[in-house]
Formats: sequence, structure tokens, C-alpha cells
Amino acid sequence: MRGLTISAHGGLDQLEYRTNLPVPEPKRGEIRVRVRAAALNHLDLFVVGGIPGVKITPGWVLGADATGIVDAIGELNEDGGTANDLKVGDSVIINPGLADHSCEYCLEGEHSLCVNFRLLGEHVPGTLAEYVTVPARNARSIPKDKPVESAAAFTLSTLTAWRMVVTRARVKKTDNVLIWGIGGGVALAALEIVRNIGARSWVTSGSDEKLALARGLGAENLINYTNTDVGKEIRSLTGKRGVDVVLDSVGESTWAQSLGALGKRGRLVTCGATSGPMVQTDLRRLFWNQWDIMGSTMGNESEFDAITREFQEGRLTPLIDSVFDISQGRKAFERLQSGQQFGKVVVRIPE
Ligand SMILES: [Zn+2]
Repeated sequence: MRGLTISAHGGLDQLEYRTNLPVPEPKRGEIRVRVRAAALNHLDLFVVGGIPGVKITPGWVLGADATGIVDAIGELNEDGGTANDLKVGDSVIINPGLADHSCEYCLEGEHSLCVNFRLLGEHVPGTLAEYVTVPARNARSIPKDKPVESAAAFTLSTLTAWRMVVTRARVKKTDNVLIWGIGGGVALAALEIVRNIGARSWVTSGSDEKLALARGLGAENLINYTNTDVGKEIRSLTGKRGVDVVLDSVGESTWAQSLGALGKRGRLVTCGATSGPMVQTDLRRLFWNQWDIMGSTMGNESEFDAITREFQEGRLTPLIDSVFDISQGRKAFERLQSGQQFGKVVVRIPE
């Protein structure tokens, strides 16, 4: 089968487009999906670069997000766990987070806290290939008429944003929400969720062009962070009040400004540290303002069910930046690495 792989870590020179990969067989409790399209995430760039403590074997298939057609179903689980009502021929979206379903967190339904949490493309072979095997419980069927690009690009970003906005920050209609770096998949999904709740959004970018696109999506307040301290700017625009919620996946370079923007009783949720992981927080401001500072990663099965419903019913649809054929996979990765994209970068795997 065709696939996009690496055999060693490094830059995008390590990417290999292969046509002779073995087709995986579904194990007990798994399904095999004929992938029609896969979408890229920053995670894929991290995997190419090498993640400390995570080993790959040569011919490693990249990719976490995908959509496709169920093409084979493995044996049922010992506990009678079914194929999740899936049938051969169903169109599915895939939750890339794999949990053991037996640790204390899984038993509470909090699968992204699993002590054995793994991700497609990072710890097990990924979705940028003609076929992928996944646990049946990691797939949900979707209507056949959904565009494959949207379906491919949906899960990881939306699941991450949903948990941050809905579960962790509990954003409500009266909230003001600051979203860093509009244009990225998680930020765009967060904006759509915040808009659907009816809360007010504040979005940032280093590009006026991206801010104009965000305005077209309904973002109310736009800040170009290039020559502006976003924290001070928001303080001044809100009469020193600040915002109720900050979603920050950037880390070192934005943390001080995020806290500067955060009002009393504010909630800050972080899901990433693309600019670096070490930040400073003045504890006096933390307790005086009674802030909640929270981490968030991926999502659990009930959140996956929730976003699947949003997708099925057309309330959440990811924005697509560009689409490449899998044989041009490197160009897709270059697009993601450039940071110029507005929306998701998708790879098609045609017949
Ligand atoms: Zn677990």
C-alpha cells in the first residue's frame, strides 16, 4: 500500500513516500479503514523531528487524523465488545487517542488521562497510508455525503478545542474568550465553538490577512500581536477588566501577555507550548485574582461523541487550507511548517 513514512528523525528531508508498505490486519476489537483523506497536525511535525522517549521503527507511517471506509472488522473483543455497530462500507472519522480502558482514569471515562495513552502516528502506525487499523471504539460513522476533506480534518483539532472550551474552561454566553494564533486548526475550531456558545471572541495573529479572514468567520475583536502587547491592549480595550478565558497553546512567548489579559476569576487553558515550555507566573496575581490555570489534552470518548454529533448535524465544520495528493505529501508538510496556512492541510489518498 501507499503511505507517507519516516525511517529516521530530522527535517522534512526524512519524509518518504512509499508504495510497497504491507497492508495491516485488524486485531481483536479493531477495524481496518481504507483511508480516503488524512489531515496534518503539528503533532506530525513533532514526530518527524523526534519526540524524546518515543521510538519509531523504519518505514514509520505518520498521521493522526483521517477519514475513510471501513474495509475489514477484526474479531470481537472478549467482553463481547462489538465493532461499535460499525459495518464494512461505513464512512468513519477516527479518534487518534488510544486508551487502555482499564486504568482508574479510563474507568472514570477520562480517556485522555489514561496512564497508557497513545496516539496514532506517534506511538502506533498512523493514518497517512492507504489502510490503517484502529480500535473499533475509536471510530464513529458519519453521513456519506460529508466532504472527505472536512471529515479528515475534523477530529484532533476539534476534540482538543472542545475539551478546552466546553469541559475545562466551561465557556458561557457572557464570557470574553481570547484565542491565540487564529489560523491554526485548534484555534479555528475553538473560535467556531465559542461562536456557537454565543460568547465574545478575541483573536490574535501576526498577519492582518488572517485577522481579516477571522473577521469573516465572525471573530469580534482582532489583535495583531506583531508590535502589540496583547495583555495591555486587552486591558485598555476592556477598561482594565480583561477577559474571562484565555486559550494558549503557544507557551513561553505568549504566557505573560495571556496573564496580562486575564481578568479576575479568569480561566487560562493551555494545550501546547509551541514556542517553549518554561514560563513564569507571579503567584500573588494568581491568588489575588483567583485564577484557574488548567492543562488540557485531546478528549475522552463522550467528548468524541459530542463533536461527532456536532459534525453530523453541521454545527462544526473545519476550515480547509489546502489539499495535496499523498504522492505530494512533502508539499503538505512544507505548507504546515510554513505557518502560512489558514485552516487544515489535507492529504488525499485516491483510488
Ligand atoms: Zn487508561
